[in-house]
Amino acid sequence: MKIALMARNASLYSHQRLVEAAKDRGHEIEVIDTLRVYINIASHRPEMRYKGEKLEGFDAVIPRIGASITFFGTAVLRQFEVMGVYPLNESVAIARSRDKLRSLQLLARQGIGLPVTVFAHSTSQADDILNVLGGAPVIIKLLEGTQGIGVVLGETPAAAKSMIQAFGGLKANILVQEFVKEAGSQDIRCLVVGERVVASMMRKGAEGDFRSNLHRGGVAQSIKITPEERSTAVRAANVMGLNVCGVDMLRSNHGPVVMEVNSSPGLEGVEKATGIDVAGSIILFLEKNARPNRTKTRGRG
Ligand code: ADP
Repeated sequence: MKIALMARNASLYSHQRLVEAAKDRGHEIEVIDTLRVYINIASHRPEMRYKGEKLEGFDAVIPRIGASITFFGTAVLRQFEVMGVYPLNESVAIARSRDKLRSLQLLARQGIGLPVTVFAHSTSQADDILNVLGGAPVIIKLLEGTQGIGVVLGETPAAAKSMIQAFGGLKANILVQEFVKEAGSQDIRCLVVGERVVASMMRKGAEGDFRSNLHRGGVAQSIKITPEERSTAVRAANVMGLNVCGVDMLRSNHGPVVMEVNSSPGLEGVEKATGIDVAGSIILFLEKNARPNRTKTRGRG
């Protein structure tokens, strides 16, 4: 196969591993800096160009689109889809998963366990928001946040209320969520590839931090998940329409609750914690599934 890897930074661990895994399995892979692609959509024969040359002849594309370039990145990916190139994850699914609220709405509709969550624009009813959630402590999340930045814990009713109002004053979109205390500053990340969880790890927050993000000083270890956690992760990936993703869950008193589904999960933490060749499984998935024009939407989404 000839594979395009859409990535901003070729030297990142995840990107290097994907290149290595593809080459090891005898494929050709080219790293394409997403933001340097330009698209001619006006003609009947659309073309994508990169560094002065036409981008063509690819069998599959692996999109690694950072949150800050979702708009342009999904447009480039959509163009690959229009041209019949098989995407590891489709542009519509990536765009869907980037909207945290939309994701939660879709997951809720399919009955997937979620932390009790309130979404509001006006924060004048902060007391009632807290009531609905059963009172403080609550977690308040900025919809646009990543890597744990923009996630705060309102421990007392007064603190929670003033935080909700402060975000309201900034006109930020927020989610207010029950604090799943029993999770003990730990969360579970399952790497789903196709219909399978290929690796899973437990992340524990740094001392004194309720957030377990590795970027915030959390540590990861391999973990054996329960059948319920496994099926929750696979169902969540299905609902989002993602072939490959990281599903983040908390162990709550009422079973696994999904916090987020990430369409470009980092491979470093999970491969190092588990010793599993996740990059290899991704390439294997492409070998089995990549066929011309096999996308569901062909860029029409
Ligand atoms: P981000 O997308 O910025 O990583 P998350 O929603 O994943 O934000 O939250 C960051 C971390 O905060 C999670 O990994 C988890 O450890 C903790 N956390 C998030 N939501 C909750 C919650 N409702 N209850 C308990 N801990 C939470």
